[in-house]
Amino acid sequence: MRVMVLGGAGFMGSNFVEFLVRNARRAEVLVYDKLTYAGRLENLRDVLDRIEFVKGDIVDERMLGETVQRFKPEVVVNFAAETHVDRSINEPAPFIRTNVLGVFTVLEVLRKYRDALYVHISTDEVYGDLSWTQEMADETWCLRPSSPYSASKAAGDLFITAYGRTYGINYTIVRPCNNYGPRQHPEKLIPRTIIRLLLGKPATIYGDGGQVRDWLYVQDFAEGLYTVIKKGESHSIYNICAHNFASVRQIVEMIVEMMGHDPSESIVYVRGRPGDDRRYAMKCDRVRSLGWTPRVDLREGLRRTIEWYKSNRWWWEPILDEYVLSDTPWKL
Ligand code: NAD
Repeated sequence: MRVMVLGGAGFMGSNFVEFLVRNARRAEVLVYDKLTYAGRLENLRDVLDRIEFVKGDIVDERMLGETVQRFKPEVVVNFAAETHVDRSINEPAPFIRTNVLGVFTVLEVLRKYRDALYVHISTDEVYGDLSWTQEMADETWCLRPSSPYSASKAAGDLFITAYGRTYGINYTIVRPCNNYGPRQHPEKLIPRTIIRLLLGKPATIYGDGGQVRDWLYVQDFAEGLYTVIKKGESHSIYNICAHNFASVRQIVEMIVEMMGHDPSESIVYVRGRPGDDRRYAMKCDRVRSLGWTPRVDLREGLRRTIEWYKSNRWWWEPILDEYVLSDTPWKL
């Protein structure tokens, strides 16, 4: 299988590439990534001799098109995106550029090169806020995004389904819940909490911390995605989630306790993030019917993640910025 991975030098992309190299031994892999602040070749260092890497922007139609024509992928998996909600509140424009115009550009390239399945990584955030009494979202749920980030991701999804119907583009959209694990950028909740505690700073909780999310260990996600690519239907959408529901407060308290800190001294509550969703919850019967189920429970996943950040200060120390160090990174 010839697989082109867009955005493969980021957190989830690099974990997926590692999974492919280890488990799909005959796969030929090309990673195409712009190497923004979130993408780093260090993330691929264990597999660099087994893959091809091209530095490129998904909005650059000529370069993307030439790379596709040369490599001739059977599958194009797109992880490339601007991904941090706090950043999307401060500056939405890069989110429109990569998550909307970038997806449009990928579709235009694949409209000319018709031999690949387009596998797009979307998010549970496109379904928006679910009330406490609402049942969980299945793949037919309407899209009601709340942040500039999730709106840009929802726009990408809508272009893909439209291109599938109008031009017959062969696609599969995957909607993961919150992923966590090694190599996640320090700006995201779990690494941010671990790193702040390692630096002797208190962990912060936005608002009351009652926001509920579903937490999936990134290597389980990689296996789920691979299952969808191998066995899933095209022109189709798959939620990939764990049903490891926990609020932001519960996650922070677990990390504080597991790292041996005193919660009364190590947690501060700060102003809530504007527009924050209270609850994400998806059904994932479709992907489970393909035979996939997550293996790593939340406590074990957190233990592995804490260990990784403790042992890999070289990885995160050079990339700390105000999105980790400031208590409330958005400027509204
Ligand atoms: P990340 O921010 O760690 O990595 C994004 C990668 O995309 C980086 O390597 C970056 O260099 C690359 N990139 C950004 N803009 C690009 C462009 N214009 N051209 C080429 N490459 C570009 O992201 P992540 O957390 O690994 O998320 C991957 C995908 O999964 C995203 O589409 C995100 O929306 C989605 N997702 C993430 C989560 C999560 O919990 N991390 C949950 C649901 C969905």
